Amino acid sequence: MSVSSIKPRPRLRSLSCPRCGKKAVLQRILYGLPSEEFDHDRYISGGCVVSDDSPEIACVKCGWAGFRDPMTGEVVDVEETELWEK
Ligand SMILES: [Zn+2]
Repeated sequence: MSVSSIKPRPRLRSLSCPRCGKKAVLQRILYGLPSEEFDHDRYISGGCVVSDDSPEIACVKCGWAGFRDPMTGEVVDVEETELWEK
């Protein structure tokens, strides 16, 4: 696989949430205890427990959580996942 054939991944903020459709609401989830420098404008705290199928990104508006396609960077809508209870 040639590296030069991979297009730059779209910025996370340019993608829209697959559930609520809003833009600039998706943020990366960081797992583990947030440090004092934790950047809440860029990241969502996913808590201490992480597993192989823990979501990678989440919507700050509706709580949708899911993944990005590793090749295209597009949002992958998986089965209904909630980052937090509503
Ligand atoms: Zn949303």
